[in-house]
Amino acid sequence: MDMDYIKIPDVYHGYALSHFCVPKHYEEDLENIMIPWGLIQDRTERLARDIFQDVKDEPLTALCVLKGGYRFYTDLLEKLTALNRSQGSVSVPLHVDFIRLKSYENEDSTGEIKVIGGDSLTNLKGCNVLVVEDIIDTGRTMTKLLDILHQHQPKSVKVASLLVKRRPDSTGYKPDYCGFEIPDRFVVGYALDYNEYFRDLNHICVINDNGKKKYAV
Ligand code: 5GP
Repeated sequence: MDMDYIKIPDVYHGYALSHFCVPKHYEEDLENIMIPWGLIQDRTERLARDIFQDVKDEPLTALCVLKGGYRFYTDLLEKLTALNRSQGSVSVPLHVDFIRLKSYENEDSTGEIKVIGGDSLTNLKGCNVLVVEDIIDTGRTMTKLLDILHQHQPKSVKVASLLVKRRPDSTGYKPDYCGFEIPDRFVVGYALDYNEYFRDLNHICVINDNGKKKYAV
């Protein structure tokens, strides 16, 4: 069954920067706001509920893919722990874990991923792992990461990605949970970066040519 994502269409102009609060230092560098922060919060609340209902009383190891996934991760975990407090009869023991990958320079995938930090993956043996990622683009990074994780014999692995990009050369990989399916544009904000810039922006925005030029390496 096709997953029940919110689909943002190809012809979509988002919201004007002037309608929301954007840091002054990025005003010249963004085309529009694709997904405002408040909408991300509301969608994440529902993803947390879906995950909670699927997992029930089994412990869950939430694995944050740094750095891009960190804001989605903290918001998702905050909403999961709120359910743990409020649901009474059911709860999900949560463990947190972090992994750091490197795959991109400028806008282009180097086709390689490297695990360059985080806890030892041997801790994942026998665990129900929920990988929390910011964006699936071609799907190559996630496919490779899943190969690496499976070598460490977890009990199960599921993936929550805030965004999935629609693109013709996708590997076809689809995460178990996803916030929004987006057009093939390069997006920044809410911890998604362009050469380490824009992580300090709340909304998910489309970068413009000025921004790409200004922050190119
Ligand atoms: P994939 O291997 O699926 O092509 O790429 C996944 C990784 O590429 C993501 O984890 C993210 O780091 C980076 N990426 C892909 N598309 C975008 C984008 O539109 N914006 C940003 N900031 N990063 C992206």
